[in-house]
Amino acid sequence: MRCPNCGRETPEGNYCGYCGTRLTAGASRDPARRGSAYAANPNQSVYQPDVISTFFPHLNPQRTRLFGWILAGLALVVFMLGFANLVPISTVLAALLVPLLYLAYFYVVQVYENEPAWVLGATFLVGAILGTVATLLLYRTVVAGHPIFVRPKTSYVLLVGVGIPLLVQALMLVGPLILFFARRERFNDMLDGLTFGVASGLGYAAAESIVFSWLLITGAAPALGDPSSLALRTIPLALLKPLLYAGTTGLICSALWLRFDKTPPTREMSALTSLPVALIAAALGMIIPALGVTLYGGQYFNILWYAIPLLGIILLLRQVLHVGLIDKARSVGHGGTISCPHCHQTVPDLPFCPNCGIALRSIDKRARVAATVGAPADATPDATQPDAADTTTPPAQPTEGNDA
Ligand SMILES: [Zn+2]
Ligand SMILES: [Zn+2]
Repeated sequence: MRCPNCGRETPEGNYCGYCGTRLTAGASRDPARRGSAYAANPNQSVYQPDVISTFFPHLNPQRTRLFGWILAGLALVVFMLGFANLVPISTVLAALLVPLLYLAYFYVVQVYENEPAWVLGATFLVGAILGTVATLLLYRTVVAGHPIFVRPKTSYVLLVGVGIPLLVQALMLVGPLILFFARRERFNDMLDGLTFGVASGLGYAAAESIVFSWLLITGAAPALGDPSSLALRTIPLALLKPLLYAGTTGLICSALWLRFDKTPPTREMSALTSLPVALIAAALGMIIPALGVTLYGGQYFNILWYAIPLLGIILLLRQVLHVGLIDKARSVGHGGTISCPHCHQTVPDLPFCPNCGIALRSIDKRARVAATVGAPADATPDATQPDAADTTTPPAQPTEGNDA
């Protein structure tokens, strides 16, 4: 059948295999933009603020649900430890929870199977080292000298609420930027940028939380109130902050990598995906919680100060990933057929699964290899020919006898 959006001859299905346009009626007002079917997980809307499918876009739907349950379960454990008066321990656990989940993700999907894991580990470590040094220095020079219960001066508010958050954001970009300048030829995909940004942000956040917990344990930081109120005050932040740091840094890196991705976009990309928008959103995402907590903090307000910017960052990040996956679509690159890990149909190697509409580049490499059926014997998926981007090859015929 002919796609009304790109005009190409595409295999029979619900989506165009080349441009991802929704072909079946009754989908959405703009079938080419398909806001109801997120490119990395068409079960979800682009506007659904799901943490897992945003930060872990390579997971298939079953694993997305599994990781969601693990995250919720571990968060519950952290809270219970907090209410059992083990606040510093639970804060450290909370600080390590998301990074550990990320490690599991990295292992499960093997984002870079031909590259030693040190690349991602090093990005995380650079973030963690910078986080440790900066938090200790900033705490000693700025926060420790300021009396609590005293109305803060404007200069202090500007420093703690604006200056430091922007400095922290800059430090979190150091690791990914080194990779951007040194290894851009190898890591050329928008999702690579997201991975590095998230790793660096998580490293920094983990270090910051652990340094603060250590100051709390050693008594350098003032412990206030009874433990349960302390648990309520610190633990939600220890859970939300890593996600926020990962989100702002991942957003900037995704937008940066997207700009320099050599694949020509199929149409003018939405301004929401531009680097200036990402930079402004990330800066706001860092400043709003810091200013809010300093000026109008409180047990419950602090949670809001972090949760609202996090929600905004996640929604924007999903837009960038969705638009990037659709407008710079390319096929997996081996020219054979593939068993779609999302809907389990055998489909030709096109940028999109004609049946469920997932952007096939968002699936993990292990699935791309294992599921390959009938690819040429010498074809190595993806890694050796990342820029093939052969959206111009004629569609392979769908294999017969699709086993659903
Ligand atoms: Zn099309
Ligand atoms: Zn599919």
